[in-house]
Parts: sequence; C-alpha cells; structure tokens
Amino acid sequence: MSQVDFVSEIKKVVKGEVRTDDDIRKDVSGDFGRMIFKKPRVVVRPASTDDVSQTLKLANRLGIQVSTRSEAHTQTGQALVDDGILIDMRSLNKILSVDTNAKLATCQAGVVWRDLVEHLKPQRLSPPVLTNNLGVTIGGTHSVAGLGIASFRFGAQVDNTIEMEVVTGTGEIVVGSADKNAEVFRSFRSALGQFGVITRATLKLREHLPMTRTYFYLYDDLATFMDDSRRLMDEERFGYIESWCSACPQGIRLVDGVKQAFAQWFYPLHATIEFDPAKPPDDAKMKAGLRFYKHVHTMDQPIHDFFNRLEPLFVIWKRIGYWANMHPWMETILPWDAAKPYIDQVMVNFPPQALGGGHILLWPSKGTTSNTPMFQVPPGQKHVIGFGILPGIPPQFIEEAKPKLNLASDLSMAMGAKRYLSGFIEFDHERWKTHYGDLWPQVVAWKKEFDPKRLLNSGFVVWE
Ligand SMILES: Cc1cc2nc3c(=O)[nH]c(=O)nc-3n(C[C@H](O)[C@H](O)[C@H](O)COP(=O)(O)OP(=O)(O)OC[C@H]3O[C@@H](n4cnc5c(N)ncnc54)[C@H](O)[C@@H]3O)c2cc1C
Repeated sequence: MSQVDFVSEIKKVVKGEVRTDDDIRKDVSGDFGRMIFKKPRVVVRPASTDDVSQTLKLANRLGIQVSTRSEAHTQTGQALVDDGILIDMRSLNKILSVDTNAKLATCQAGVVWRDLVEHLKPQRLSPPVLTNNLGVTIGGTHSVAGLGIASFRFGAQVDNTIEMEVVTGTGEIVVGSADKNAEVFRSFRSALGQFGVITRATLKLREHLPMTRTYFYLYDDLATFMDDSRRLMDEERFGYIESWCSACPQGIRLVDGVKQAFAQWFYPLHATIEFDPAKPPDDAKMKAGLRFYKHVHTMDQPIHDFFNRLEPLFVIWKRIGYWANMHPWMETILPWDAAKPYIDQVMVNFPPQALGGGHILLWPSKGTTSNTPMFQVPPGQKHVIGFGILPGIPPQFIEEAKPKLNLASDLSMAMGAKRYLSGFIEFDHERWKTHYGDLWPQVVAWKKEFDPKRLLNSGFVVWE
C-alpha cells in the first residue's frame, strides 16, 4: 500500500490528528536516552479511546507496526517505532473526574502527573506515590511502575490504581479492575505498552498535610545507612525517604594499572514528614537512635514545593548540558542482603566524573508493598534497595560506557536483582526470561492473546 493510501485509510477512521509532516515525525523519533532514534511513518494524536481502537484495528488489518509514546522519558527506544504508526498519547490529557469522598481521580492516560497534582491542590488531596519527575504521564508510568519516595509505604503507582480502560493490541476496548476483566487489569500494568494502550485510569488519592519538614542526614558508612533506613521504613517514622550516593573526589590513583579518578562515597538520607503548622514535629523524636555521621540541615516547605523539589535540579541539569547528553540509566532493584556487597563492588573504583553531572541513586524500599505481576521485584524480600547509575554521557564516550553498565546490570541480576525497565536495557532473549522468571510463560501467553501479530513496540522485548 502506498504512503498516500495508507494515510488516507487512517484518516478515514480517526477523528483526531493524523500527521505526516517531517518535523512532527522527527519530534517524536527520540527519547530521554538520546541513543536510539526511530522515525514513524505517521503520528496519530487520538481524540478519543475509539481513535486508539480504530488505529489498532487498522494496523492489524494492514500488518503495520505501532508504538505508544507519551512524554518519552524512557531511554532505550521503548516508545518508538520505525516507519510505523506512533500513537502520541499526550492528546488524551483530560482529568475526567475527582471524587473527594471516595478519594479517587479518573484521568485520561496522557495526563501529566504535575497537572493532576496541581488540579488536586484545593482539595488537599494527592496521589499516594509520586515519581521524582512529575513531567511524565499516567499511562507512561503505569506502563513501567511509577516508583516514588513513598513507595516503601504504598508500593508503585500501578498499585494505586483501581480501574483502567485499555485498548488491546487488536483494538478491543476493555475496562479492567480487580473484579472485572481481572486478567486485563493484572497484565496491562507495567506492561511497557506490549499488550495494548492504556487510555484511562482511576487512581487512589490520599489527604495530605499542608507542610513538610525534611531532615538532611548524612552517612559515611553504607551498612549504617542501610540499618537506619530499614528501621525508619519499619517504624514509618517518616512519610518519605530519599537517598543517593554522593562522591567526595579523592584525586587519581592506579586502578588495574590505569590512572583513574576515585572518590570516597557518602550517603545523604533525606527523611521527610508532613505536618500541620499548628503541630510541628518533635525534632528530637525524629532523630532518636539514628547513627548518621552528620545532621546537615533541616528544611520546612509547603507540600507542593516538596512534590516539585527536584525541579531546580532538572534546571541545573539543563544548564550544564547533562539533559542534552545520552542517558544510559542503569537502575536495578536489589535484594536487601545482596545490596551492600553489590554496591561496594560497583562503587569501589567508580570514577565520579563518569556521571557527567548525574548521580547514583540509592532507594531503600519494601519488597512487600507491590502486587503488580508485571512489575518485577526480587521475590521473597521484606526490604529491597533500588540502585541506579544515572550518567549523562557525551556521544563520543557512549560505546565505552555501555559495556560497563551492562556488566553492572548482569552482576545485579546474578545477585537476584530485577532491572527497572524504563532505563538502558539491552537484554537478549535469555535475560528477558531471567527478568520475568516464573512469570515468563504467562508474559508470552499475554502477548499472544493481546497482540498476536506482535505489532506493538517491537524490537524491545526479545520474544525468541
Ligand atoms: C529525570 C527523570 C526522572 C525520573 N524519575 C522517576 C522516578 O522517580 N520514578 C520512576 O518510577 N520513574 C522515573 N523516571 C522514569 C519515567 O517515569 C518512566 O520512564 C516513565 O515511563 C515515563 O513516562 P512517559 O510519560 O515519559 O512515558 P514514555 O517514556 O513515553 O513511555 C514509557 C513506556 O510506556 C509505554 N506507554 C506510554 N504511554 C502508554 C499508554 N498510555 N498505554 C500503554 N503504553 C504506554 C511506551 O510505549 C513505553 O514503553 C524518571 C525519568 C526521568 C527522565
């Protein structure tokens, strides 16, 4: 079928925009990873769920590849397609309803979390889990997981959804929940757009207090940091725990005969509690028994400033060129007991300048708070630690960096970790099977059921 015929076929069935302009196709050909580019033949901006359904039915009839793209903060081409149809979900961006009594919000999948948070401000309600970057969509994080610094209490964003409307890969519109079409509800969350498109979600909300107080604790020892963070999670002393590894550069030394920069690593732990101004937290109680190296700072801020606390960091990232560089982020969720040996091994010779202004995530959480099958966490763990190397790499160094990051990924998997799939993923078939473990046959069966022609987001999961 010629390009003209193909586009006119889509235009016949879709009421939203159907674009073939070169600049629009180019605009959606990349993602935050900046390593993979795939240019679609046509971009569909659906005006409704029905548009998504019609697009997928047509794609099936003509055997054309399709990808679903939202804000494209993923990093290995997860949302891209070469010469196929790209469904740009940002056009489905309406907050449909908020039920303040039931504490639920129903949104189209292209709604950006920041807009929902802003919309809910007058009601003093917010989603229980927010990602660090609020500039991503509900559909985008529901297709990966959506982790936040309250995940140790509430799980991932996918665990806080009670109902979803989806369009399967063959174009069927289905509404799923724990009780109705439960198989769709089980399978579509954290599915990377492999089974179909999420068009609408009903999300749990919670009431928050107006202010937050954050204690900036600094640790100089990983084991002590881990003991204290586990204690804080178990006690739920704070509502939010945020941490990372911070380098104190020590100069150059010989590593395997090569001169290399090295660092002494420290571990900032920011522990935050919500409060009402009439009833501020008791500072002595908040730090009782903790064994930090230093209490660096304490800060109060309105809760919405807290939700947006990383925006200034993103501004800095943009200024220093980090944002425009390549981002092969390697994020992995480690079993608790494997975390220290793994992190020690990875960090001992890690040259801090290799991050290019980025950082090393350290994310204590619980292994028991998520119940979404497609979101893999190390099984049987009461506690887990998310660890992430988040570099911004100039293009000329990317080929040097990739094998090292893949080695760190493989080592984590060998120690029982599960990768977070929005980042830099270069799995072969065996690694995909290992990642999903016992669930793999079911994942394959779902793919066969919902996208039998394997038209969706192809080239990412290696099925055979
Ligand atoms: C600076 C930064 C900070 C981040 N912080 C966090 C964090 O704190 N926690 C966290 O969990 N993640 C974090 N991420 C990762 C980010 O949340 C995920 O990559 C998320 O999937 C991005 O959403 P998006 O709207 O950009 O989706 P996209 O990247 O466009 O899509 C993600 C995947 O979902 C699919 N998809 C998108 N929309 C739909 C839909 N409606 N239906 C079906 N499939 C769909 C795509 O095909 C793709 O496979 C961060 C990323 C960046 C760049």
